[in-house]
Amino acid sequence: MSKIKNVKFNDGVRRSIDINYLYDIFFKSEHNRLASANRANAYLKAVMVFPNYYGVAMSNLGFLRTYELINLSGFISCDRAFMQDDLSKGAVSLETRRRLKDYDFIFFSLSYENDFANILSILSAEKIPFLSKDRSNDFPLIMAGGVIAFLNPEPVAPIFDLMFIGEAEAIFPDFFEKIKSQNKPDKYEIINSCAGIKGIYVPSAYDFIFDSKNPYILNEIKIAKGFPKRAARRWTDENLSFSSSVITTEFSELSNINMIEIERGCKRGCRFCSAGFIYLPLRESKIDAVNEAISATGENEKAGFVGFGTMDGKNIAKIMRFSLDSGRNFSLSSVRFDCLDENNLDMIKESGIKTVTIGIETGSERLKKMLNKVLSNENIITSVGDIVKRGITGIKLYFMFGLPYENKDDLDDTVKLAKEILKEFISASKANKRIGKLTASFSPFVPKAWTPLQWENFEDLKILRKKASYIANGLKGMPNLDININSLNAAFTEAFFARGSRLSTDILIYSFLNKTSIKKSAEDKGLRMDGFIRKIGTDELLPWDIIDQGVTKRYLLEEYKRALNLKTTPQCFEGCKRCGVCA
Ligand code: SF4
Repeated sequence: MSKIKNVKFNDGVRRSIDINYLYDIFFKSEHNRLASANRANAYLKAVMVFPNYYGVAMSNLGFLRTYELINLSGFISCDRAFMQDDLSKGAVSLETRRRLKDYDFIFFSLSYENDFANILSILSAEKIPFLSKDRSNDFPLIMAGGVIAFLNPEPVAPIFDLMFIGEAEAIFPDFFEKIKSQNKPDKYEIINSCAGIKGIYVPSAYDFIFDSKNPYILNEIKIAKGFPKRAARRWTDENLSFSSSVITTEFSELSNINMIEIERGCKRGCRFCSAGFIYLPLRESKIDAVNEAISATGENEKAGFVGFGTMDGKNIAKIMRFSLDSGRNFSLSSVRFDCLDENNLDMIKESGIKTVTIGIETGSERLKKMLNKVLSNENIITSVGDIVKRGITGIKLYFMFGLPYENKDDLDDTVKLAKEILKEFISASKANKRIGKLTASFSPFVPKAWTPLQWENFEDLKILRKKASYIANGLKGMPNLDININSLNAAFTEAFFARGSRLSTDILIYSFLNKTSIKKSAEDKGLRMDGFIRKIGTDELLPWDIIDQGVTKRYLLEEYKRALNLKTTPQCFEGCKRCGVCA
């Protein structure tokens, strides 16, 4: 359930939903594993805000983990708040219905670029000035973390007093130490004292100077005295046990699933995937910690194994076996074809999983090399057959289009692959005496910061529309195949922010205040959208260069050149030092 209006009430009556009534329902549905004793001695009050609806937030493990860590601090109690349909009476927290403006700290959890406008809606409802520079000490300290905060924070950076660059488990101990002594947090004192903490970015300490003739070009980043040249990402080492859902609820999009992080980071190096680069290196959770979390999974819950390549871990077979032997069915956040041996498939089937989700990206062998994702089409087709013959009858395939240098032949290859998979799917279904459901989803490629393809452009919308129609027509009328082409406009907005700058902040605010589209807002400000989604010169200073990700720009550039030459790169390996992350 992603939107409040989609809640199903037991009495079946449709009514205008009061937020207090709704939050009562959500609150009562929750299984909260956090001991209330953790909040008992807290003298500071924080609220974690997810700028999307409750159901989306509660399926986000990073959001839940941060909420848990703040409450475990012992001196800060943390509540939760979400995007509300009706903000006319202000934004309130779930736990105490306190207005957000009355907290000491507001932590935003940022996961999607397309949620940025919701940040403004929430602040506006609380009459809190949008920009950090316009807020005095009378307002809460407003901070942000989450994947977007350390991918490219710039389009929203001027909103926040502080941003967390990296993983909360690693940064919070030092941050908590700095603020522990404050009975009434002083914004300016905290900002100055955080200047030296690795993993904290103070946006107000940096001034971004754009070219006066070509405003899409960043000329210089000026740094206030005492602040580091770049904000360095901080991450946990493998000795820290990772997280599982501190709260489960049937109203989460992942209804009643206890999410258990079995690994963080990904060793595969797919060149379009930002998460694959900004969470390096790959770290696997300790098997004892995972098993403990599985054992803590409630009777009405499932264990949901979370990771970027959930089947890549060396312990995955043991973890699945333990889960089944202890009477807990499990789900997997993603599946790689090349990890699906017979044993793993049997356990997936035994767990009652009816649908597996697989990212294929493209049917073009040429573009696969560019993306560094080189599973052959023959292997993919055979694997689909093996999965279906095991009785797992739902398969969701994810493809991309609008990829760099994509031509008609590449699109034909993708359509051909989808048809061949469908043929195998139907043939293999005969063993089950029923045909399940094959779904193919197509999303436009969005170039993301901190990937080797970050310098490439987002495809022109008119061309994208033609490509979408070409794919849809190519697969039209195929029985037993559902086609889903994701919103091009949403991808366009995502692309605008994904490599945006502080100019994007102005456009975002203008768009919000004037209730106009991002495109019209850019035009009203004398800017063009194609300036933001263009191909970028490899020698340009980038807004996200303010972050030191660990992965070097030199390595990304090498990988970009290999992509253009259709050369693949092997996975992370023991002793490798190439990208700058492993010391
Ligand atoms: S240095 Fe090598 S092993 Fe370490 S994260 Fe980078 S690519 Fe992977």
